[in-house]
Amino acid sequence: MKPVDFAYERPKSLPAALDLLARDDCTVRAMAGAQSLGPMLNLRLAQPDLIVDITAIPELTSIRSDRHALAVGACVTHARLEDGAGPGRTGGILAAVAGGIAYRAVRNRGTIGGSLAHADPSADWIVCTAALGAELLLASKAGQRTVAAAEFMLGPFETALEPGELVVELRLPWLSEHARWGYYKFCRKAGEFAQASAAVLFDPARDLQCCVVGATSGCPVVIDDPRFIRDGQCSERVTELLSATPLGDDPFAVRTHVVVLRRALARAGV
Ligand SMILES: Cc1cc2nc3c(=O)[nH]c(=O)nc-3n(C[C@H](O)[C@H](O)[C@H](O)COP(=O)(O)OP(=O)(O)OC[C@H]3O[C@@H](n4cnc5c(N)ncnc54)[C@H](O)[C@@H]3O)c2cc1C
Repeated sequence: MKPVDFAYERPKSLPAALDLLARDDCTVRAMAGAQSLGPMLNLRLAQPDLIVDITAIPELTSIRSDRHALAVGACVTHARLEDGAGPGRTGGILAAVAGGIAYRAVRNRGTIGGSLAHADPSADWIVCTAALGAELLLASKAGQRTVAAAEFMLGPFETALEPGELVVELRLPWLSEHARWGYYKFCRKAGEFAQASAAVLFDPARDLQCCVVGATSGCPVVIDDPRFIRDGQCSERVTELLSATPLGDDPFAVRTHVVVLRRALARAGV
């Protein structure tokens, strides 16, 4: 199938994009790498009157850093992160995660902000950014606000974004030199969407221990209570927690996710 007719704009500034997204006389949709939106248009699951291509906006394509965090623009592609953009104390996690997404042609176009906004339960960034304690900067004509990555996804393909709102950037706090992280993605072929995934971060300097389990068919499950995981071992409480998610109907899926979490813990050296 082919998309319905739509108008196309490629604004060069954030205010211009937000003006277009605030229009109430037609249905408007932001487009970043089009790796998810493209198929949705072709299948007519999305039928906007106007597409606002946000990839020419400098704030959205830049990577900045300050003393506390790395700020990655929403339209930074997976490929740029895979190639090492975003240096500093992130321990190589961005490159490692980006390199496992799909194949290079998808990574050349797909963006970190697009992936987060699309909120596919099996996607990689939503899991990793939650474990890293990242924050998302959102903007609309009404102003700006920040949301914790762990609270951004509300359900499958559903986020905290309000109509007319864009993800502008992702702020990743620097890891301390003692931090350890692990990410494990289980899929049948390299680069596929995950059937189970887990990201863990241990940063003793910040008294931080966070494990996030993904591909649950719902929101990622954040496990930050140290009683749930001791010395790299998942307690029965982890199984109980995962059984309370949409995975609960399938004991094999729960078991797979526990194993994947253990592997992520092993990768972190816990
Ligand atoms: C063959 C294939 C395999 C894939 N495998 C994986 C995989 O293994 N793991 C994985 O994580 N992903 C995978 N993906 C998805 C890929 O990561 C895409 O990058 C991602 O789904 C969407 O990013 P995008 O930049 O292309 O967004 P788009 O397709 O342009 O947009 C997706 C949605 O997000 C909205 N949007 C985009 N940017 C913003 C923004 N800044 N603010 C607000 N809303 C915005 C759009 O309106 C749209 O609703 C795969 C995709 C393909 C085609």
